[in-house]
Amino acid sequence: MRVMKFGGTSVGSVESINNVKNIIQSKDGKKLLVLSAMSGVTNELVSISEAIKSGDQKEIDVIIQRLKERHESAINELIQDQEIRSSTIAFINETLAQLKQTSGNAYSEKIYSETVTYGETMLTYIFSKYLESLNIQNQWLDAKEFMYVSNLENPDTRAVGERFTRLIKSKPESDIYITQGFVRIDKNNEISTLKRGGSDYSATILGASINAEEVQIWTDIDGLHNNDPRYVENTHRISELSFEEAAELAYFGAKILHPQTISPVIDRDIPIFLKNTFTPDSQGTRISPEAKEKGLKAISAKDGITAIKIKSNRMLMAHGFLRKIFDVFDNYETAIDMITTSEIAISLTIDDDRNLDKILEELDSYGEITVEKNHSIICIVGESVIEDKQTYRLFELLNDIPVRMISYGGSNNNISLLVDTQNKIATLRKLNEKLFIQNKSAQVV
Ligand code: ADP
Ligand code: ASP
Ligand code: MG
Repeated sequence: MRVMKFGGTSVGSVESINNVKNIIQSKDGKKLLVLSAMSGVTNELVSISEAIKSGDQKEIDVIIQRLKERHESAINELIQDQEIRSSTIAFINETLAQLKQTSGNAYSEKIYSETVTYGETMLTYIFSKYLESLNIQNQWLDAKEFMYVSNLENPDTRAVGERFTRLIKSKPESDIYITQGFVRIDKNNEISTLKRGGSDYSATILGASINAEEVQIWTDIDGLHNNDPRYVENTHRISELSFEEAAELAYFGAKILHPQTISPVIDRDIPIFLKNTFTPDSQGTRISPEAKEKGLKAISAKDGITAIKIKSNRMLMAHGFLRKIFDVFDNYETAIDMITTSEIAISLTIDDDRNLDKILEELDSYGEITVEKNHSIICIVGESVIEDKQTYRLFELLNDIPVRMISYGGSNNNISLLVDTQNKIATLRKLNEKLFIQNKSAQVV
């Protein structure tokens, strides 16, 4: 079985949904489709959850009405068979009635999570019924019946696989299974998500769970680019990446992949292909265990980083001290991304600052603490990138951009810089110009 994931823009309009149908029909064999919500719908649902928080019932009703109109209009255009059309509209109305009921609860994390999952439920159902109306046999699967992920960082793919297999055995055999990305059941047996952009992660969790032959991630760009095309001009597609390279880029901000996408398949030989729904014949990016080429490949940036400096002229580098510091972060399940040390100080970064106040309170006894928010990690990635002579000149290349921290040699495949977010775009552009464009023309000369 192949896993094929289609993101929000790929299912965001009638035309693109039709493209998706053509892509699926052009591939032989069994397919598990993992679909996102229509583009923008999850943002609308986040707005509903904000309105729940502020008690703005009018706003909730306005958004639910907008969602109803958008989905109904797609159904009316896509589905010609009257009976299927009205049963699909009825399903959407029931789902939105349920959403309205959910929105009557007091706000909590649980209500937020449940609210934001409705988009995937609606779109997958519409897509399944659309195929049915064209006599393309398929099975709609409710992810809540098998996507039990209690540990977000380390999903139990065997358990997911067992539940999935049991479920499809209980249904008529099909070549096309359709399910929701993003949705999971958490450790309290409650509806939750894999965090924003999580459908990519759903696809690889499922790919690993059923030992798929490959995972395809279909989106609105022709593959992973060497730099963030939202901020930088003249980026180019990378045709091959290793799991490690892709994992670094995803974790450090390349939006095309959810940060955890690679981890479920990293120990397996399941390749990931990134493809463009709008130009399906273009080659895309292949992500597989080994990198074909060494050297600098791409740059990404992760925002929302907080740097914390602990300065102490006492026992800082005494043995056991770092462990105590790390324990504080561990107690609050807060991952540390970058670390640098000197004889009297240690600086580290986190991206999850939900427990920052408590962490700072506990760190207070260890020395003088400085906190700097609104930073970005710029990550330069490629197998053996630290041997790339261009990167020896990093400080010279970035001469007018202050670098707050640097991590070099932690792995051969990654150099990370911490800069103020105000300087992120300038840093990305400068690195693109100096490391890729000028460097390439120098090689041609
Ligand atoms: P989907 O809705 O299909 O999941 P996303 O919006 O999450 O799509 O991801 C695709 C977008 O990621 C692209 O349109 C592009 O703007 C952005 N992006 C950011 N960094 C990169 C990169 N390095 N390579 C390709 N796309 C990137
Ligand atoms: N619909 C969800 C989001 O917008 C998940 C996804 O698209 O991957 O975050
Ligand atoms: Mg995405």
